[in-house]
Amino acid sequence: MNIEQFYPLFLQASKVTIDSRKIAEKDIFFAFSGENFNAATLAEKAIDDGALAVIVELPEFENRDKNIFYVPSTLEFLQQLSIYHRSKLTIPFIGLTGSNGKTTTKELIHAVLSEKYNVQYTSGNLNNHIGVPLTILSIRPEHEMAVIEMGANHQKEIEFLCTIAQPDFGYITNFGKAHLEGFGGFEGVIKGKSELYDYLKNNNRTILVNENDPIQADKTESYSPKITFGKETSDYNFESFSAEHFVGLTYQGVKAVSKLTGEYNFTNLCAAASLGLHFGISFEKIKHALELYTPTNMRSQVVKKEGRTLVLDTYNANPSSMTASLNNFISFEGSKTIIIGDMLELGNESEKEHKNILKLAQDLNFNEIITVGKHFKEVNSSDLAFENTAVLIEYLKQNKIQSDNILLKGSRGIALEKLIDFI
Ligand code: ATP
Ligand code: MG
Repeated sequence: MNIEQFYPLFLQASKVTIDSRKIAEKDIFFAFSGENFNAATLAEKAIDDGALAVIVELPEFENRDKNIFYVPSTLEFLQQLSIYHRSKLTIPFIGLTGSNGKTTTKELIHAVLSEKYNVQYTSGNLNNHIGVPLTILSIRPEHEMAVIEMGANHQKEIEFLCTIAQPDFGYITNFGKAHLEGFGGFEGVIKGKSELYDYLKNNNRTILVNENDPIQADKTESYSPKITFGKETSDYNFESFSAEHFVGLTYQGVKAVSKLTGEYNFTNLCAAASLGLHFGISFEKIKHALELYTPTNMRSQVVKKEGRTLVLDTYNANPSSMTASLNNFISFEGSKTIIIGDMLELGNESEKEHKNILKLAQDLNFNEIITVGKHFKEVNSSDLAFENTAVLIEYLKQNKIQSDNILLKGSRGIALEKLIDFI
């Protein structure tokens, strides 16, 4: 089966899925064969249940009469089909990468642009070599713009995702200490993320630049076309303010207050507002979108529980976002407990970075510092260093946290959200 032959069938499909549990009427199912499970065994059933076609990578499962097609690699076919589909689309594509804040910024850009356009965007955190193709394949004729999150933990990944998404506009949220192991240190992070700039520059596409970030400013200095914010002399100039725990921005005297906590979200808001203004959306409408957007995804989320304030930032953590989060949390009124989980994937830097964060937490003088995970335990000799969430839950059953404010922040693998019911 080749892409051109298959494309007309794709155009009739409701959606493309790789998850057999999500197959609905008229879907195309891409059956991956894993070590433990061959999804191809479900091909016939999928068709009987109403799927339009199934792609399998095991020849013995092919049945062309039933629209079950064999290809040598399901993954490659998925990627090639998305590239082909992308080449037929003329709507603006906005590509995002960076160490921290991609998903938040993506959600904000979507909220803002949706004030005027029908925008398709990355669902959740589907930002890798499978997620990006799936997002592109979900774009339909009614869509007027696309916002694509691109994640990476090693070199050449963004370059590859750019060949798939072919962004017309691109933004790197920041360069931070994330995935240091895979990228080969901080210099490696800069190089790896900058593959987005390389793509945009080589193809004469527009770069969105936060001129307040020295690395971004330096890398795009004499480049055009670009859209800029972050400095008084930038195309768009915003000022930050905070209202209680929430971050706000002012544009030409008009204030917008978000439902996000953490000063770092100011940049995320500015990026979304700049794109909105660039695409002809009034600041009144942008304000409406930014004020309405409520995170529900464990990223910079503030919730009230029994009269106390919980900051849930359990989706992920690395030294940059942890530092930002602690510096933000210290400004909360009242007593403060932090529950911080290990920052994973730091390779050789791990011990040093965990020490640094613990030192920062101690210097900031939080009322109570609780750590979760092996890495923190190695550097934290206090009684409040727990190996994992299960052990901490047992402790919390006997010892209720008394503080007015509680921060939960840690890597995905530590899953600090499991603690919420015990706080
Ligand atoms: P992932 O690599 O998991 O896809 P991401 O880049 O999509 O992460 P988000 O999920 O938006 O990032 O945010 C994760 C956390 O990073 C937030 O909860 C917050 O603590 C922190 N963060 C968000 N934006 C920034 C920023 N601009 N600078 C530093 N830290 C940030
Ligand atoms: Mg993300």
